[in-house]
Order: sequence, then structure tokens, then C-alpha cells
Amino acid sequence: MSADVEPHVMAIRTVDRVPLLAGGEWRTGQSGRWGNVYNPSSGSVIAQVPLCSAGETASVVEAAARALPEWSATPAVDRARVMFRLHRLLERHFDDLAALVTREHGKTRIEARAEMQRGLEMVEFAAGIPHLLMGDTLPNIAPDVDAETVRHPVGVCAGITPYNFPSMVPLWMFPVALVCGNTFVLKPSEKVPLSSVRLGELLVEAGLPPGAFNIVHGDRECVDTLLTHPQVAAISFVGSTAVARYIYETGTKHGKRVQSAGGAKNHLIVMPDADLDQSVKALAASAYGCAGQRCMAGSVAVAVGAIGDPLVETLCDFSGRLKVGPTDDGPDVDIGPLNNREQLNRVVGYLDIAACEGARVALDGRRDFHGDGFLLGPSVVDDVRPEMRVAQEEIFGPVLSVIRAEDLDHALDIGRQCPYGNGASIFTRDGYAARQFKQHFNAGMIGINVGVPAPMAWFPFTGWNQSFFGDLHIQGSESVMFYTRQKMTLTRWFASAADSHVDPVWRTKR
Ligand code: NAD
Repeated sequence: MSADVEPHVMAIRTVDRVPLLAGGEWRTGQSGRWGNVYNPSSGSVIAQVPLCSAGETASVVEAAARALPEWSATPAVDRARVMFRLHRLLERHFDDLAALVTREHGKTRIEARAEMQRGLEMVEFAAGIPHLLMGDTLPNIAPDVDAETVRHPVGVCAGITPYNFPSMVPLWMFPVALVCGNTFVLKPSEKVPLSSVRLGELLVEAGLPPGAFNIVHGDRECVDTLLTHPQVAAISFVGSTAVARYIYETGTKHGKRVQSAGGAKNHLIVMPDADLDQSVKALAASAYGCAGQRCMAGSVAVAVGAIGDPLVETLCDFSGRLKVGPTDDGPDVDIGPLNNREQLNRVVGYLDIAACEGARVALDGRRDFHGDGFLLGPSVVDDVRPEMRVAQEEIFGPVLSVIRAEDLDHALDIGRQCPYGNGASIFTRDGYAARQFKQHFNAGMIGINVGVPAPMAWFPFTGWNQSFFGDLHIQGSESVMFYTRQKMTLTRWFASAADSHVDPVWRTKR
């Protein structure tokens, strides 16, 4: 190696180049622009991902459009059977897939397995979708007239996904879209494209016809092509709020159906009567699981009344003992690295901002970790006020801010001051307080003594406010509505001569 070449630049020449999938063919990116994929545990480059041009992206969309007539005409039960076969393959390769998630994302093996499990459940849901595709009928809606609705696919659907769930978020989208009869173009996060490519390989093995599922990689140029291409009918997006809003506005402006899930700032209310030890364990798991990189992660603890001091003390004691380290050499850590260096620097920046705004960093996760991984320990920031940036903005790292509240009404009011609305939980033994919280907290997913109230595949992922743009959410029956459009048919068969019937709508005799 020459002395002036950095080691990571040398490594790039030997790492894998991530392929595209178009019309059943694995292709090499042609744009000449590449991004690096890192192993967050070591900080080393493990692959290069193409940042596709507008032309390349359009050719992938066109491959999906060519496959649409045959796939949408395939009986729904046969489309569902592909998901049964995919499910078997996902189970067979479960450990390898989880290891791949850990390798490119950095989360622990236990967290990666939990992600895979959630993804499997989406495939289970999708395999049962023929039932949800059934229409409604009302015979004799007028004399001799029958009415029926049937669900049609919408066309070519595109999915644009974030880095924090490399496998689960793509699985939120394409199994449902495909069983509904659409073809699909996935644009995974350029930070974690490897799991998506593996899912594509397994779909091919499961017998999905060429072109029904396609993968394109890239950044804004690629995404803008998906948002504006006339052959894309619907866009599913998951990512940060600023981009989610842009996707929703641009996609709908170009006539597309859009569901766009954004960022979050989730509140965990701890009432004075809560079980302190159980609550602390749940708060720590919520705030620090996946190194805080979950849209359902607890980010603000609201300590009500006298529980404030003991809560902060117990939280710091418990969290300070969590083991932080690389995740690619075994499952023996509680908290893995952040996914990338920019995110690590951003999260550390929030600890500085908190101190500048007058909050107190009661537990500081900044330590000297061995190696070049993107590691950061858990932090607790106390004495936070609702208007501070650490209370208002998504940090997306292992930082838990603590706000003190006088009573439940005050806690509900603190929640109302936050622009997001994904999830919120209450910890209490008091059923009435829990009921009040459930009814009045300004968020779409509620937990009662549950740290991460993320719904399973059969329920919609009901983010509110700045956490979601659109009408029909991801998961559950709402996702089937999103990926289909209804057609209503009125049918009349004449009992006698054509001139004897009465028009059902206008009731005039012809
Ligand atoms: P991100 O918004 O940076 O990127 C998401 C996707 O958008 C990626 O595929 C990326 O390539 C693309 N993208 C990024 N900038 C773009 C731009 N300017 N124009 C067009 N496309 C662009 O999000 P991320 O950092 O990958 O993921 C973390 C975020 O995702 C967090 O905010 C988290 O809360 C959110 N998230 C939300 C949910 C939910 O259900 N609400 C679930 C998971 C993650």
C-alpha cells in the first residue's frame, strides 16, 4: 500500500459492489457514483452501493411496469403462495439474515432477530390477504339490480426506506403490495442496502416472476425519479420528517398515492404510583434499544410528582451498568454502535446543546471506546424543559431527556407541545390515570406499562401529527386499502323485454 493512500480507500477496491435488480436481472450500477456501506462496529467499509442516475432508475420502473399485466392477472391465492414460500425461506435463513442486519446496521444480534421476527409477521399477514381482497355485495339494491365492489391493484408501487430497520421496513411494504397484485420497486437506504438485496434473492428463489419485485439504489436523484415517473402509481416512504413531508408533497403533486411515515419524539410518562424498578427497566429498553435508533424509542421521560428524583437516580444507576460495545463478534452487549459517524456526531452534539440550554447531563454516554466503531453509551439528561431542543427535536440516539411534571394534566400538556405524534406510554397502577392518558395523549400509538407500543403486522402503524403524512397507514388492513383501489359495479339482468325495466337510479320507465 502506498503511504499516501488511506486504509479505508484501499479497502473499497476489494469490497462488494451492491447490485440492482430489474426485470429479474441483477445489474451493476452505471452512474459512476458510489456510496460506502460501513460495518458500524468497526467503522470499516464493507460494500459500495451505486447511486443510480435518473435514467437507470426509470429503467427499473419500466421493468416493473412491464411485469404488471401478468402479475396483476395472477390469481390472488397464487400471489399469496409466493409469501408462504418466502416465509419458509426466511425461517430457514433467519440467523444469517439477522447477522446481515447486525453487520450493516450495528444493532445487537438479539435486536436483529427481533427485527426479523417482526418482518416475518408481515409476510404472515400478507399470506392471508386474499381474504381482505374480497369485495362487498348488496343484491337487489334496486329491483333486479345488484351492487358489488372489487379491489384492483394500483399499479407500480415504490418503497423508499430508512437505515434503522434494514429488513423489517422493506417487509412492511412489498409483501402486502405484491399480494395485492402490484409490482414493486424498492429503494432501500443507501446506508444499509445488503439486507434488501438478500430479500430480493429469496423472493426470486420463492418463485416470484421476473420484474414483479425490483431494487434500485441511490440518493435524491433516484428518489426524485420515483416521485415523478408517470408509471409509478403509489409511494410508501419511511424516514425522517423533513424528507417525509417532501415525499408526500412531491408525490401527491405528481398524482401519486402516498403514505409517508416520519420521525418521532416519544414520551414515557411515569406516575408517582408506578413500579419504579419495572418502569426503569422498560424506560431503558425503550430509550437505548437499537442505540435509540427506533421511531418508537422513548425519548422524553415525564416524571410526575415525587417520583422524579428516585426515577433519575435509579435510571442512571441501571443504565450506567449496561454493556456497550461492538456487535459483530457476539451477542454479549446491551447497546451496539450507532449506524454511522454523522449520526454519532449529531447525537453527541445534542448533549452539548442540552448543557448549553441549562439542562443537566446526569449520565454521560461519551467515553473512550476501543476501536473505530460508532459507539456511544446511554445518557440521561435531567432538568429538561418542554421548549428545549432536546425535548422538541428527534435525537435518534441513546439519550433520554427527563422533564418534571406536577400531575397528569401537566404531562398531557407537555405532550401537546411536541410536534410529533408516533407513540407514548404511561407507567402507573392507576386504571383511571391510564384511561385518561389513553384518551387524551396527542399521539397515535399508546402503551400502558409498555415501553415500545409498536403494533404487530395485523394492526396499522398509526403515527399522528408530524410523524405521518397521508391517510392510510402502513401495516394491517389500512395497507391493503393503500395498495388497492375499489371498483363498484351495478348489474341488472332484464327479466323480460328490454323496454320493461325501470331505471334504478332515475326511476323512469323507458
Ligand atoms: P432519511 O429521511 O434520511 O432517509 C430515508 C430515505 O430517504 C432513504 O432511503 C434516503 O436515501 C432517502 N432520502 C434522504 N434524504 C433525501 C432527500 N433529501 N430527498 C429524497 N430522498 C432522501 O431517514 P434515515 O436517517 O434513513 O432514517 C431515520 C429516520 O426514519 C428517523 O427520523 C426515524 O424516526 C424515521 N423512521 C420512522 C418510522 C415510522 O414508522 N414513523 C420508522 C422507522 C424510521
